[in-house]
Amino acid sequence: MGKVYCIVGNGVAGDAAASVIKERDPESEIIVFTEEGKALYNRILLKEFAKGKLNQNSVDIRDEDWYLNREIDIRLNTQITRIDSENKIIEVNKGGHQKYDQVLVATGGTPRELNVPNSGAEGIHHFWTMRDTIGIRNHAETASFGAVIGAGLLGIDLAAICGAHGVESKYIMRGDVWWRNALSKVGGEIVHKSLRDRNVLPVFNKEIECFEERRGKVQAVVTTDGERHEADFVGVAVGLDYNIELIQNTGVEYRNGIVVDEHMFTGVEGIYAAGDIARYHDVIIGEELQNGSWGSAKKQGMVAGENMVNGKDYKKFEWVPSYSITHFEYPIISFGHPIEGEKFLEKKYSENEWRRLAFKHGRLIGGVLIGDVSSQSRYKKIITEKVEQVDQEMSILDKKIDLEKIVVKKA
Ligand SMILES: Cc1cc2nc3c(=O)[nH]c(=O)nc-3n(C[C@H](O)[C@H](O)[C@H](O)COP(=O)(O)OP(=O)(O)OC[C@H]3O[C@@H](n4cnc5c(N)ncnc54)[C@H](O)[C@@H]3O)c2cc1C
Repeated sequence: MGKVYCIVGNGVAGDAAASVIKERDPESEIIVFTEEGKALYNRILLKEFAKGKLNQNSVDIRDEDWYLNREIDIRLNTQITRIDSENKIIEVNKGGHQKYDQVLVATGGTPRELNVPNSGAEGIHHFWTMRDTIGIRNHAETASFGAVIGAGLLGIDLAAICGAHGVESKYIMRGDVWWRNALSKVGGEIVHKSLRDRNVLPVFNKEIECFEERRGKVQAVVTTDGERHEADFVGVAVGLDYNIELIQNTGVEYRNGIVVDEHMFTGVEGIYAAGDIARYHDVIIGEELQNGSWGSAKKQGMVAGENMVNGKDYKKFEWVPSYSITHFEYPIISFGHPIEGEKFLEKKYSENEWRRLAFKHGRLIGGVLIGDVSSQSRYKKIITEKVEQVDQEMSILDKKIDLEKIVVKKA
């Protein structure tokens, strides 16, 4: 009899693992569980669907036939409530158990609600699933005034969605720069200007006091200094709570994410984790890190799948992530780990062109490029090759320098 592999979560990490396992161990039984009513779809395209630029079908990735043809058992609308690591059994919310030989936890996170009065009022949106997106798109089409809270990568998506639908909006931020851990005021101002051009006004240095509601519907956002911002559409993107209930009492270590090694192995026999939920040992940077990006989640799922079949240290996760933002007339790319630096160098080249690089222990570890993003792959190579002492060289920001030579010099 073949082995039984259970995959909890059918996002890109879970899907990648299931695909690899099927290839490597075709005789096995693979069961994929997902709370959602829909098989894998492209989360990174949800923003374009919400903006009205794509239809719903263009976001789909898998249909029923894909699973049927591969004899992968997909269970939609099914939540796993517990893993019994001693007996190697998982418990299903609908009742029932499933035995496993190897299980992957790829359960990602759930958007966090703001802990302020009336945060459950109608018209306040969070952004993660297709269901959320349909609600956002339908509402944004008819909303009069918007407010977006959360100055990060999902917040900017919500702000761009308001802009695309012509909803006059405020983008309320805690600090004085959008994505303040990765951008400086100079870089941030390029983005702020584009937001203003779309009638989305950045409002800085504010904390949220409460939402005003009337008959259950949101009317305004009130900040702690008493300012009132009228809004019948509110988007909140203030981080994720990771979906970890199922690993309680398994012996799996949790530190704001499931702790795994570079093989995506938790250290508990038969249990792996991958994707947004995984806090992994990064072999390039040499630290425990976590990453919320599509490419990284996919690669981690593939590595986990390989190791679930071939043994727990068969493949290593070795990857420099990236994340692109395409809402404006210029591209923005974040690569590596731009907020983990201890030293930063930056340069503005023209009105919409700017770079900031992050360094740690004398090595490049990440950065953000606005405008000209063509050097991304060469910077990534410098990171992968672990080139040392590049932080002394402002020249790395000089466009005339041949970045290939920096890599060669190290080798
Ligand atoms: C709107 C949006 C835009 C984004 N844009 C970009 C982008 O431009 N570039 C980029 O690189 N990344 C982007 N990301 C991030 C990227 O999509 C994620 O990092 C990636 O999808 C994470 O994949 P995952 O498989 O780890 O988790 P998820 O995709 O979150 O999948 C986890 C799945 O597990 C299910 N689940 C949770 N608990 C249970 C349980 N107990 N039982 C059963 N099922 C469970 C969840 O319902 C979910 O379906 C974006 C994300 C969003 C939401």
